[in-house]
Amino acid sequence: MNKCNILITGGFGFIGSNFINYLYEKFEEAYIVNLDSLTYAANEENLYGIPKSFHCHINGDIGDKKLLRKLFKKFNFNFVINFAAESHVDRSIDDPSKFIKTNILGTYTLLDESLRFMKNNDKNLFKFIHISTDEVYGSIGKNEYFNEDTAYNPSSPYSSSKASSDHLVNSWNKTYGLPTIITNCSNNYGPYQFPEKLIPLMIINCLGEKELPVYGTGVNIRDWLFVRDHCSAIFTIMFKGNVGESYNIGGNNEIKNIDIVNIICEKLDKKVPRKNNVSYKELIKFVKDRPGHDFRYAINANKIKNKLGWEPNESFETGIEQTINWYLENQEWWEKIQNNTYNQKRLGVLK
Ligand code: NAD
Repeated sequence: MNKCNILITGGFGFIGSNFINYLYEKFEEAYIVNLDSLTYAANEENLYGIPKSFHCHINGDIGDKKLLRKLFKKFNFNFVINFAAESHVDRSIDDPSKFIKTNILGTYTLLDESLRFMKNNDKNLFKFIHISTDEVYGSIGKNEYFNEDTAYNPSSPYSSSKASSDHLVNSWNKTYGLPTIITNCSNNYGPYQFPEKLIPLMIINCLGEKELPVYGTGVNIRDWLFVRDHCSAIFTIMFKGNVGESYNIGGNNEIKNIDIVNIICEKLDKKVPRKNNVSYKELIKFVKDRPGHDFRYAINANKIKNKLGWEPNESFETGIEQTINWYLENQEWWEKIQNNTYNQKRLGVLK
């Protein structure tokens, strides 16, 4: 079989690298071109186990038209899977400009160059898959769930920039016929997640005997999906997803932030008890809430289940166990980040 050439953008980030690792196990006919501009969130070590015969890294920006044109010409991609983004809400509050540049303008450029390529190629052999978030729907009330028809109502500069990119993707499908699919996924967690995000931050702060900052009163609710389940959903969508549509992806795990922190503390109390034998919960500190903090996100993932037969494998219980074990076993990975790129300072507080 001919190789299936896949352009993965942001492949050194958390989900992109998990996805390349997943493809390496599941799809040996693939060849991956990983276009990643190596922002603070990228980590080349995430792909150490992947041979050069399976992937190459191109150090560049999704907004670089010339570079994209060269890559399309050289590799004749069958898929573009767009993970590249600025992804942290708190950073978007401090400096939205990068979010506008990458998430909106970058996606626009990628769409436009994909369309240019597709015009001279068979559109049945090409799909543009855009990885987005449930945050585009904004906050939702009790007992309600986002489905694919829920109106977009984003609150943060991050979610607004993702919402904008989703609208662009849809319009490139409706107006120009580019074969696109959008995925809107809930909060991911698992190996290789940059320690600014809630779950790794809490694990690492426990291990370092540092405060565990919980925004507001900790009652905000998110749905959580183990990253490998997100990867299997995207893989399913690559082959079975309908062009022109979007798919919500969720884990059926709605949990309050404070409950997540308590679960992590209880697990670490057993795995690595503190010297004073007092629970890690003692380190919890409620801090000023995030501006514009959405109260609740909840996904209805019936469409991908009923139409494509996808369901998550992991419960929160099994996923968090694997995640904590991974951070315990890969201390060197996150210590390097702590020493070089991220000092765990609070971001996103209005002055
Ligand atoms: P991440 O921040 O860990 O990684 C982003 C990667 O993109 C990095 O490797 C970075 O270097 C690269 N990148 C950033 N700007 C770029 C540019 N202009 N050109 C090329 N590369 C660039 O992000 P993540 O958590 O892996 O998220 C991946 C995607 O999934 C994002 O689009 C995000 O919006 C979406 N998403 C994330 C979550 C989550 O919980 N993390 C949930 C739903 C959707």
